Amino acid sequence: MAKKFLVQNNIHFEERNVSVDYAAAQELQKRNIRGVPAFFVGDDVIVGFDQAKLLQLIDHRLQQCPQCSTKLRVPVNKGKLEVKCPKCATKFEVTT
Ligand SMILES: [Zn+2]
Repeated sequence: MAKKFLVQNNIHFEERNVSVDYAAAQELQKRNIRGVPAFFVGDDVIVGFDQAKLLQLIDHRLQQCPQCSTKLRVPVNKGKLEVKCPKCATKFEVTT
């Protein structure tokens, strides 16, 4: 469910399975986190699948250039933005 949400919102993420990934399990333990899923956003940690909190913390998402498919990071909640692709210089509008 969480994965689907992240994909739907164009949020880049790295999935780690604590039941097979020892380093990931250690990291949770180090931070004293007992619940999964846990989401690391920069220095912030969200335990449990809290959509509102996640969206609040994640201030950028990946947007694909319609011309060359380069992925670029655009801020969120800024209304309509004109973005210029760094690769092919195509300008396009995104609603954030
Ligand atoms: Zn492009």
